[in-house]
Amino acid sequence: MAVISIIVPCYNEEASLPFFLPEIKKVADHMSAAYSVNLDILFINDGSKDNTLAVLRDAAAHDSRVRYLSFSRNFGKEAAMYAGFQNCVGDYAAVMDADMQDPPSLLPQMYEILQTGEYDSVATRRVTRKGEPPIRSFFARSFYKLINKISDADIVDGARDFRLMTRQMVDAILSLCEYNRFSKGIFGWVGFRTKWLPYENIERVAGESKWSFWKLFLYSLEGITAFSTAPLAIASIMGVILCFIAFLFICVILVKTLAFGDPVGGWPSTMCVILFLGGIQLFCIGILGQYLAKTYLETKHRPIYIIQETNEILTRKE
Ligand code: UDP
Ligand code: MG
Repeated sequence: MAVISIIVPCYNEEASLPFFLPEIKKVADHMSAAYSVNLDILFINDGSKDNTLAVLRDAAAHDSRVRYLSFSRNFGKEAAMYAGFQNCVGDYAAVMDADMQDPPSLLPQMYEILQTGEYDSVATRRVTRKGEPPIRSFFARSFYKLINKISDADIVDGARDFRLMTRQMVDAILSLCEYNRFSKGIFGWVGFRTKWLPYENIERVAGESKWSFWKLFLYSLEGITAFSTAPLAIASIMGVILCFIAFLFICVILVKTLAFGDPVGGWPSTMCVILFLGGIQLFCIGILGQYLAKTYLETKHRPIYIIQETNEILTRKE
């Protein structure tokens, strides 16, 4: 019997889990009856500060299909997904949010598409950004346009992390063991044939989104530095342009001085040039710094997450 691992990162989801758990169990029952596949439901408690862990303990105790890993602190959704991939056992794996924004009811359809053998992964993208502030949509769209221009990872606008994929693709994702993870890019980078299912944006069932505008902005920078080195070229390009402008200036000043003498003055213009160049130099050093910081973090080879508790080790000890 084939097994599908469902990876569910949870951070402060005690309010949404009571909605999610019955729904995923319903889908699991349906799938084992209709397609004879078993679901292995793996929750990752990402250092929640509420009662999520207690809810998961209870769920695992009452249903053998449910497993959980609990981190020693909040490591972020990227780390939670990586832990899920590392610890999942299925022939297929799917990542799913706990807030019902990724409807479990889509799973049978996704599985059927994979069964045709034409695709290695079925991913979802939302076609509308209903319920989202317009300014956020604008920045999100601009980000996708930019990153697709400057990197070779194919990152789809509106793509969610919700996707079902084959074991082969999971192993490929695991082979990218970088510390600074940007899954939207990693999924595209590893390639394979992906079918996109468009669907309407759904509001989360309970609790609130963990993503503020600022967090999303930093995450987008993460995506750019992780998948493109184009910003590093900015310094060279600006340098060339400025050299050209400087050359024109020198010519103008030379002619002016030879023709009209050399009257003292021009302090404001000198200040403007100094400030302008100073700004550009700091900006470029900043970009260098960003890449250096990422390299620094990678070279430490720190673990991406630390597990404090799981129902499996506990049962093994007993
Ligand atoms: N999440 C997580 N760790 C975090 C933040 C979020 O595991 O540090 C989980 C969260 O519990 C949810 C999923 O990632 O299951 C998506 O989070 P959220 O719904 O806040 O994001 P959005 O859907 O608004 O993009
Ligand atoms: Mg959500």
